[in-house]
Amino acid sequence: MIALSVIVMASCDSTKKQDTTTQNPFLTEYQTPFKTVPFDQIKTEHYMPAFEAGMKEQLEEIDAIVNNTETPTFQNTILPYDKSGKILSRVSGVFFNILECNTTDELQELAEQVMPLLSKHGDAIAMNPKLFEKIDYVYQHRNEMGLDDQQIRVVEKYHQDFVRSGAALSAEDQAKLSQINEQLSTLSLQFGNNLLKENSNFKLVIDNPNDLAGLPQSSIEAAAQQAKDDGMEGKWVFTLSKPSLIPFLQYADNRELRKQIYLAYYNRGDNGNEYDNKELIKQMLKLRQQKAQLLGYDNYANYVLAINMAHDAATVDQFLIDIFNPAQNLAKQELAEMQAIAKAEGAKFKLEGWDWWYYAEKLRKAKYDFDENQIKPYLSVDNVRNGMFMAANKLYGITFTPNNTIPVYYPGVETYEVKEASGDFLGILYLDYYPRASKSGGAWCTEFRNAGHDINGNKVYPLISLVMNFTPPTDSLPALLNWDETETMWHEFGHSLHAFFSDGLYSRTCGAVPHDFVELPSQIMENWAAEPEVIRMYAKHYQTGEVMPDDLIERIENSALFNQGFNTTELIAASILDMKYHELTDVENLDVDKFEKEQMDAIHLMPEILPRYRSTNFAHIFNGGYCAGYYGYTWAEVLDKDAFNYFKSSGNLFNPEIAKAFRQHCLQDGGNDEGMIQYRKFRGQDPDNEPYLKARGLK
Ligand SMILES: [Zn+2]
Repeated sequence: MIALSVIVMASCDSTKKQDTTTQNPFLTEYQTPFKTVPFDQIKTEHYMPAFEAGMKEQLEEIDAIVNNTETPTFQNTILPYDKSGKILSRVSGVFFNILECNTTDELQELAEQVMPLLSKHGDAIAMNPKLFEKIDYVYQHRNEMGLDDQQIRVVEKYHQDFVRSGAALSAEDQAKLSQINEQLSTLSLQFGNNLLKENSNFKLVIDNPNDLAGLPQSSIEAAAQQAKDDGMEGKWVFTLSKPSLIPFLQYADNRELRKQIYLAYYNRGDNGNEYDNKELIKQMLKLRQQKAQLLGYDNYANYVLAINMAHDAATVDQFLIDIFNPAQNLAKQELAEMQAIAKAEGAKFKLEGWDWWYYAEKLRKAKYDFDENQIKPYLSVDNVRNGMFMAANKLYGITFTPNNTIPVYYPGVETYEVKEASGDFLGILYLDYYPRASKSGGAWCTEFRNAGHDINGNKVYPLISLVMNFTPPTDSLPALLNWDETETMWHEFGHSLHAFFSDGLYSRTCGAVPHDFVELPSQIMENWAAEPEVIRMYAKHYQTGEVMPDDLIERIENSALFNQGFNTTELIAASILDMKYHELTDVENLDVDKFEKEQMDAIHLMPEILPRYRSTNFAHIFNGGYCAGYYGYTWAEVLDKDAFNYFKSSGNLFNPEIAKAFRQHCLQDGGNDEGMIQYRKFRGQDPDNEPYLKARGLK
């Protein structure tokens, strides 16, 4: 091990000679406090040499395992494999995150070069017959080697990974699989790049102030700022980013303009231009189907689901349709109520998709006397953040201390030291709040470095980042969040708690929960965000410091069921679309638009609602890790509602025993066993779906 790192260091030295101005920061452990990423030293030209050195290092590590002439054991095979590829994870942990949150054309080009190389590299390891032979040997003898439970689990998971990656295939089929993987990684990247272009290409430019009628001041100011940034001072520009789009759909009285921006949003990637994603989808599905068949599955969904809690496509299909039907019934009631409002206002038309947000907002006011603009002054980004820090402190005793000396990749990104109640260090949290052209849409939690242990058993501290696209501050207003953004921040924060608490000696199982479990730690935090007791802790007026009045809190509570028919219907419709694509066995004659329509017709999706993502902009499944997995949000929601109900029905929202059990079994040791087993260890019983159905108003 030591000898190997010396070899790598030597090869780094030769790189250094070529570039005398700076040493490549990725090639050694970071020389910073807490070993945080030295963003101030990283340059675009560092990435490629680091990727190359990283792949070389890992291949040498693999060679050392393979060339060892002793009988394969956990210590000489599994452990060094588990700890291999340090440089590669260091550079990947930065590169792929910056690519999403602070990209440039150079980085995107670089990604297109790097992705196929990494895909090939991954395959060279996953399909290395000698390595598999050794892992297989340990696997076959795992019960006779005196291994502990965790070591046995690690051996089993690696064995499963290798089989699922084609290690047991013939050399000919391996070559095919390798080619498929390489093509898939390139296509996925193209899909994402097209979407980025489609997102930024559309602008709704308004020069007549009459067309702003109905919009709140904050939205108008942001649009004026956007126009200024785009060199159109004096006009107003609305974009497809959520903080710009959603208020427009909610409040703009001009129906024709609402229709324009609505159609632009849903038709991203489906415009028949150079950024159209239809052909890419077809190619990707064809390749995924080929891959599933090579690996012995009838379709890609079953290949993916075999290692999830839900286990197979039939289970997921049933799970989804059982929720879809009551959800759509509720959505139809919502539509009828909105239509009545429209009629009372003298509208002479049947409501369409682009009317939903607008009349839903009116319905919210009429039925719940709730206007988002009333609560926003209490939800400044600082207060919402402090609230979630307080909740985590009450649950787990942990603390968050700002540390402005830690290098960041973009000005304004906040950094916090996270510590246990005992003062022990847990890791660093980065918070990146606002949209910019170089950032992908949406919100996510990611890591520059995972928690774990190095090969000598020393703790490795995680560097975790929350990236969001919230309503930015303006000249006259601080960043004031709406309810959806507030929940989003708590959601992503929940992922970060999972990342901070994950612990284990082996990378393979540390924090590695199944896909349909992964949204449990995040979604459960949204429940605390909405509890009156907790709202009072954080929702304070940004000017007066006054706590949100009880009647407003009550209105938030009452409106929890607001628009849930719509929300659930669009979510489940997209989940079904995802499943149907990945259950396909014949992709040859696929017509994407036609297929999407047929599938939605088959479940009788009402025309006023579209799946949350249409095929051509469904990045989760075509440029993310959610293929045959989008249902996981709902699956995990059943778990999170059940888990939160456990806290709530104990009479103490922050019940320390329950928090301790949740932290241990679901967050810290979540990867130690199968998802349902870990859940039962925490809960003492199977999850019950009653709390979910109630929370969504479906029962
Ligand atoms: Zn999430």
